[in-house]
Amino acid sequence: MHIRRKIQVSGLVQGVGFRPFVFRLAQEGNLAGSVMNNASGVTIEVQGRQEAIEEFITRLRAEAPPLSRIGDVSINEIPCISDHEFSIIESRKGEAVHTLISPDVATCDDCLREMLDPADRRFHYPFINCTNCGPRYTIVRNIPYDRASTSMAQFQMCATCQAEYDDPRSRRFHAQPNACWECGPRLEFWSSADRMLAVCDPIAETIAALRAGQIVAIKGLGGFHLAADALNTTAVDLLRRRKHRADKPFAVMVPNLEAVEEFCEIGSAERAILSSLQRPIVLLRRRESCLIPAQVAPGVRELGVFLPYTPLHHLLFTKGGFKALIMTSGNMSEEPIAIDNDEARGRLRELADCFLMHNREILLRCDDSVVRASGSQVHQLRRSRGFVPVPVFLHKKIPAVLAVGGELKNTICLSSGSQAFLSQHLGDLENLAGYGFFAEVIEHLEKILEIQPSAIAHDLHPDYFSTKWALEQGLPLIGVQHHHAHIASCMAENHLDGRVVGFSLDGTGYGTDGAIWGGEVLVAGYEDFQRAAHLEYVPLPGGAAAIREPWRMALSYLAHSFGHDYRAEELPFLKDIDAKNRNLIFQIIERSINSPLTSSCGRLFDAVAAIIGIRQKVNYEGQAAIELEVAIDNSSPQSGYPFELTQDGDGWIIGVDAMFHALIDDVRCSVEPGIVSARFHNGLVDVLANTADRVREQTGLDRVCFSGGTFNNLYLSQRLQKQLEQNGFTVWTQREVPCGDGGLSLGQAMIAAHRLRK
Ligand code: ZN
Ligand code: ZN
Ligand code: FE
Repeated sequence: MHIRRKIQVSGLVQGVGFRPFVFRLAQEGNLAGSVMNNASGVTIEVQGRQEAIEEFITRLRAEAPPLSRIGDVSINEIPCISDHEFSIIESRKGEAVHTLISPDVATCDDCLREMLDPADRRFHYPFINCTNCGPRYTIVRNIPYDRASTSMAQFQMCATCQAEYDDPRSRRFHAQPNACWECGPRLEFWSSADRMLAVCDPIAETIAALRAGQIVAIKGLGGFHLAADALNTTAVDLLRRRKHRADKPFAVMVPNLEAVEEFCEIGSAERAILSSLQRPIVLLRRRESCLIPAQVAPGVRELGVFLPYTPLHHLLFTKGGFKALIMTSGNMSEEPIAIDNDEARGRLRELADCFLMHNREILLRCDDSVVRASGSQVHQLRRSRGFVPVPVFLHKKIPAVLAVGGELKNTICLSSGSQAFLSQHLGDLENLAGYGFFAEVIEHLEKILEIQPSAIAHDLHPDYFSTKWALEQGLPLIGVQHHHAHIASCMAENHLDGRVVGFSLDGTGYGTDGAIWGGEVLVAGYEDFQRAAHLEYVPLPGGAAAIREPWRMALSYLAHSFGHDYRAEELPFLKDIDAKNRNLIFQIIERSINSPLTSSCGRLFDAVAAIIGIRQKVNYEGQAAIELEVAIDNSSPQSGYPFELTQDGDGWIIGVDAMFHALIDDVRCSVEPGIVSARFHNGLVDVLANTADRVREQTGLDRVCFSGGTFNNLYLSQRLQKQLEQNGFTVWTQREVPCGDGGLSLGQAMIAAHRLRK
């Protein structure tokens, strides 16, 4: 007795080996029928014995290919017909097939095994890949995703590769980047920006250069890396000098998990994400015995570590025997990463001694992703390669909008139905190159996702490049307040509706009153928000200069808490500041010259870090706050400094005067900076928890969302979460999307979509 079923599968099921997988399952179950791609996913028809079909459906979900993500599965009874075979039906030309393009994926175990097998025809081939692994997003020019619309188009498959490509039983069935020694891309080694070595083993040359302490520009998946032997301190120093990167930590690539464990402590969540298909950079706690020199990541306890994710990386480690290589993005600080060979030879000529390149074009740059695990959860710090363009799945449908994000560490977001597509990390839009990349990615994503936005959401800051760009597009505009967008981002990711208490803590965001906000407690929904509480305003002396020089914020807070005649000469941190500069800052504060008001939480951290002598000038964003967290000494419980909570109209002001008085008393008594830092953090947690209580009394709300870059501070976020949960709140944090400005565009899109509906 045979039956026939029609099965619709939605989700990420195209271009990921789904049809051959279905083919295999059907064959094993002796089922007849067909499988084909359609507009929303895959349509399967199967005919055979009922038990066989039931088993087929169970296995469909349970054994789906690694890159696929099954959304909905609907099953319908249809009448049997007389077919005896199972076939893969090609999608008809010109048929609209909405394909979710897969992210770039790390080399799979099968490919790795083949690459290291001397008997395999792809032995040591640096571009081996299959349906389960290899480049995707970064080589796609257009949709539908087939070879002709990728940068593999110029390589004609040899007969053997073509046979694999055509065979549904092969792991390379329809693997668009399929290639081999005979027909695929090749490496080339340039001993300088102007000289290609014609006859050489490019990998051997690269290994020799790295061993000699040179910096090599290596073309990767989403762009060039600058590579150096991480254990060679001279090479590390050289790279820092050339890259004009004083302190910002470098990421290191190590050959395998055993090597990671030698350097860092890892738990099961870290182990899993390190060896995942996405292979992000994972921030790990360094061991005391860690051999990686301190100047790789100065001033911090964590080390950014990742495992090889292309065949080329594996070859470098297998043949070179390195224990750790610095692999930092191939750019001058904060510019977009270089992707094109000529571009790299131009832009990186002062940075790299030599170049390992190849002739497979990277069409879209995509930096490495950065994550951190806390407990069993993985938090995105920079969501990019490996994750993009997998959408964030929303709990309801929203109109198609484009959200252009903020300014620093930017991403953009395109929404369509119940999916929100966040772009890769676009970096800082302050420089021209960053701005170009921003516009390029918007155009590209609109094309490959086939989304035509009906409106553009942007930050309220009139001077952001993203805002200016939005104003020129001629589409309806929706301005979204920065901290509101942060909270909406957290709500969207956690599928929340209604209103929440939103803790939105970060360095900078344009407020509706023109001040620079950043220490905000909002009562917020998608439509709107009220400012329920905020850190009290102080001047930001010299504007952006105060962000680079935390000592200026220290003086601002001291003048605020102790009066303008307070000169604080005897405080140790002022010894290093020129008396003239110091007085100048006091004057511009007093006369309100170029000193906008701010409630920034990041600046409060800066001030405390400066006062206790941790850092007077920063070399990268957030450095002072990061080092303040690192300094915490919580070997014994410390009482928090007293912040004040005072009512102001409908809201509350979080005052810092008493806190600074207590802090300065400690500094005068030479209390250790680690203790001061702990008391500061604990005090801030206490007052934020109290604020949540006050807001709950007023509104009845007991759901709290955390967002904003300050929540990258694990001590603060974990302690605050614990305290709020003890007080009966439910706390929601960001994981899939960064809580920093990289997640802003998602919140903007959600808010804009809700306003459009109205
Ligand atoms: Zn593979
Ligand atoms: Zn071939
Ligand atoms: Fe922010």
